[in-house]
Amino acid sequence: MKCPFCEAPDTKVIDSRPTEEGHAIRRRRECEKCGKRFTTYEKVEEVFFMVVKRDGSRESFDRNKVLNGIVRACEKRPVTMDQMEAVVSEVERGLNNMMEKEISSSFIGEVVMEKLKDLDEVAYVRFASVYRQFKDVNTFIAEIEKLLGTDAGGKLKKTAKAPKTPALPAEEE
Ligand SMILES: [Zn+2]
Repeated sequence: MKCPFCEAPDTKVIDSRPTEEGHAIRRRRECEKCGKRFTTYEKVEEVFFMVVKRDGSRESFDRNKVLNGIVRACEKRPVTMDQMEAVVSEVERGLNNMMEKEISSSFIGEVVMEKLKDLDEVAYVRFASVYRQFKDVNTFIAEIEKLLGTDAGGKLKKTAKAPKTPALPAEEE
């Protein structure tokens, strides 16, 4: 959120609470550059779809449930509450825009995973392990290797080469 006084891009939330009617969230923010404070009101979005669970039952979309899952995955990671809430809002908006009446919980999980991948790799793997219910260690490792990509391969090659270097000393002399 941009500072309305100096236009600095970084402001931090110092207080956050629902309004009396509960239809909006009132946030007190402070600009990290000029130190001025201001208040924003964020409207709670209306949700138009039902969530279809694995067992086929339906329930209404619960933003807190999604947030709790993310908070658990981000435990002890350098991710702020603001960032986690932003992920939930993005997910919610995206799902609403699909204009579907019913969306499966596993699809919602995939969407959250995609967002977490960009935010924090450890949180992503943790979340994925719960959501995809990895059947064994191998699928879990495969997922991590996919994440690490070429970096892991490069490292492995280097360490494999290293022990070969001390050749027999000075044969030519
Ligand atoms: Zn400012």
